[in-house]
Amino acid sequence: MIVAANFKTNKTRAQTRDYMDEVNEYIRAENVEAHVIVFPPATAYDNYGQGAIQGAQNAYAVENGAFTGEIGLDQLKEFGIKTILIGHSERRHILGESQEEIAFKFAYFQSLGYEIVYCIGEQLETRKLGEAALMQYIETQLVGIDMEYEKLIIAYEPVWAIGTGLVPSNEDIFSIHKALRAKTSRPLLYGGSVKVNNMREIVDLDNVDGVLVGGASLYAQSFCEMIKIAEEA
Ligand code: PEP
Repeated sequence: MIVAANFKTNKTRAQTRDYMDEVNEYIRAENVEAHVIVFPPATAYDNYGQGAIQGAQNAYAVENGAFTGEIGLDQLKEFGIKTILIGHSERRHILGESQEEIAFKFAYFQSLGYEIVYCIGEQLETRKLGEAALMQYIETQLVGIDMEYEKLIIAYEPVWAIGTGLVPSNEDIFSIHKALRAKTSRPLLYGGSVKVNNMREIVDLDNVDGVLVGGASLYAQSFCEMIKIAEEA
């Protein structure tokens, strides 16, 4: 089971340190076997010791150079970061990353052997058109993506469920994940308003191998509870 926390533009370095200390202590004390990943903001990258894997929310597909405001491979290497989130809906829809740019970034980090958590998901108007249209849309987000890359983790995150408190029905998650399973043998995460009180029923569904959590992951205690649920599932 995989449990991933996406902090987005939240938490300072000091807050991240307190959080990681608490989560890593829990992982050690409980001998957690789940694959736990935390994506802090880049300003909080550090050496947090054993426990959760530290991942990058984003990076530019370059070693270093003249790319103002971006970080590249050198900055990730400094903290031993080997996991990256690519294709998150906020980068697609707010920051305007195109599928072409996303696929380029994917290929770059794949060539370096990075673990890639690759996000896909539809907006509400597409969801309303039914599952065939939804899967057709998802297909456009898979262009240029190696779906059998051995370090790939797919996160299905309906855009309308992210940070809204809305969650698709279990039947819908089951059905989309079944359709995704036909496209890849790699782990499939669900993301979008996952909380301690709805996680168990989601991870009990076939072809759900874990969760990617935003808002509810910001509290170390509730994230530890989610890790516990993953261990029990
Ligand atoms: C996310 O942004 O990846 C996410 C799943 O957010 P939230 O859990 O807040 O819906």
